[in-house]
Amino acid sequence: MEHEKRKERRCGLWGSQIGKLALLFCLSGPLSASTPPVAELPAPLIEAAARQNEELRTTLRWSFGGRRQKGWDLYVALIQQLIGSEAAPDSPAFALALARWQEEMGLPVTGRLEGKTWSAMVSTFQARRPGGQRRGASTDLVLAPPDDFFDRSRPLSLRFVDRRAYDAYQRMCQAAREALGEEALSSSGLKIVSAYRSPSYQAALRRRSPRAGRATLAVNSPHFTGRALDLFVGGDPVSTADWNRRRQVETPLYRWMALHAHQFGFVPYFYEPWHWEYRGEESPAHRLEPGEADTP
Ligand SMILES: [Zn+2]
Repeated sequence: MEHEKRKERRCGLWGSQIGKLALLFCLSGPLSASTPPVAELPAPLIEAAARQNEELRTTLRWSFGGRRQKGWDLYVALIQQLIGSEAAPDSPAFALALARWQEEMGLPVTGRLEGKTWSAMVSTFQARRPGGQRRGASTDLVLAPPDDFFDRSRPLSLRFVDRRAYDAYQRMCQAAREALGEEALSSSGLKIVSAYRSPSYQAALRRRSPRAGRATLAVNSPHFTGRALDLFVGGDPVSTADWNRRRQVETPLYRWMALHAHQFGFVPYFYEPWHWEYRGEESPAHRLEPGEADTP
């Protein structure tokens, strides 16, 4: 309702020459310090931003982990959580919520999810991860039962989880079950694919991986802490192929996780829909250092 009122006010502004000039200025390129506050953005500018977002979601060029990437379509649920709007990414409501986030972040207020904004989002996703805990393994590991695992025959040595992370995981599964129904968690939904890994086990994984040299598996994995969980959200459990990640992020289960896992202290590794890190309530935010942002 409030949105509607603001929209009307912006329409009024748009009717004037001032509004037309503002739009021309805004569409001419990245905005400077003279960017108008979100409340004064004319509706046509927001609508134009929405149309551009429709394109940018599949075309924006960026790179991550040494690989060229295209679009931010795979991260829509995480973006919606970040900007506090579940509106479709090609809608004016999404562009408006994005403009508010840009304003909060001190970015040019355009309502467009272009390179600079996307880069700020990636930094924000990464900064939320409990990187400071990577250095030390949990001293409070518990053994989870085989039933919690995607592969029930997983050896005992690979079934340990940090006690608090495990407790939070169980509460999260229960909440997902209540929200989405038992059906959503059947077929292995949210089963643990991988939990605690010892440094020696990780080293063996790296030796077996043909792409280990390209940081496919981190040397200093958050899985050493016992607080990182790979959870089954559909598709091939842990493949970063775009087609696979698309399948995963389109499941109701992943979407629910993207919007609610933080309530249980879990934060996503944005690039891998299955990888979640328990941060708890009191863990301070940690900004990853350069070189730390490799895949877990
Ligand atoms: Zn992982």
